[in-house]
Amino acid sequence: MQDTPGATAVAATELVKVYGTGTTGVRALDGVTVGFGQGRFTAIMGPSGSGKSTLMHCLAGLDTATSGRITIGDTELTGLGDRALTAVRRDKIGFVFQAFNLLPQLTARQNITLPSDLAGRRVDPGLLDHLVGVLGIGDRLGHRPSELSGGQQQRVALARALVSRPAVVFADEPTGNLDSRSGAEVLGFLSDSVHRLGQTVVMVTHDPGAAAYADRAVMLADGRIVDDIENPTRASVTDALQNLAGAR
Ligand code: ADP
Repeated sequence: MQDTPGATAVAATELVKVYGTGTTGVRALDGVTVGFGQGRFTAIMGPSGSGKSTLMHCLAGLDTATSGRITIGDTELTGLGDRALTAVRRDKIGFVFQAFNLLPQLTARQNITLPSDLAGRRVDPGLLDHLVGVLGIGDRLGHRPSELSGGQQQRVALARALVSRPAVVFADEPTGNLDSRSGAEVLGFLSDSVHRLGQTVVMVTHDPGAAAYADRAVMLADGRIVDDIENPTRASVTDALQNLAGAR
């Protein structure tokens, strides 16, 4: 998680994703070229159906694009087979999902270390202690997800995503299932991880308040990037979304 100013952690070039074929085909991404800076917190915003999830899934190697290129660090994803993509996801990416996606039969601690355990990688005990302390889940580590609140489950998922020092953390509507207070804690933690640990974070959200925690908001409409806002605020993002709605 070295912060090299100006370096690009993740890049997409002329990315196209078409679902289906012929007249029923949907062009979910229509030539997206964008870079996400290392050690920065970027929000991907846009109306429902604009292609946010599709872009994130392609960037994270969870789905394959129809054409175009994606690189994570110096690794080009395009053209990799399933096994190689799995290795990239395991070694370079941390995920935070709206629905937490913890394994119910494992304790919080086991969930946090599972990706590293599966990869045969040793968890850095200092970083684990640090994350657990900052997230305030030290007394919850022996509990299963069903014994934790939504906010606590998402904090476990954040520790799981960050403990391997991934090249990038992708967060998909990370506050979508949380009350506003837990949501604010999760967003504050993501922002701190960027500004204190140099983590790179890319977050999909439809919430202008969530995007205001980011350093940059990239705006999608109909599968294209239509705006790019530095230091977004709730007001500037809301304005941009309203302009988009007015232009349609
Ligand atoms: P967002 O995340 O911004 O709501 P999506 O990326 O989910 O947008 O969707 C972009 C477009 O692609 C939408 O028109 C959606 O209906 C379509 N789409 C998404 N996933 C699929 C799929 N699996 N099959 C067909 N169309 C899809």
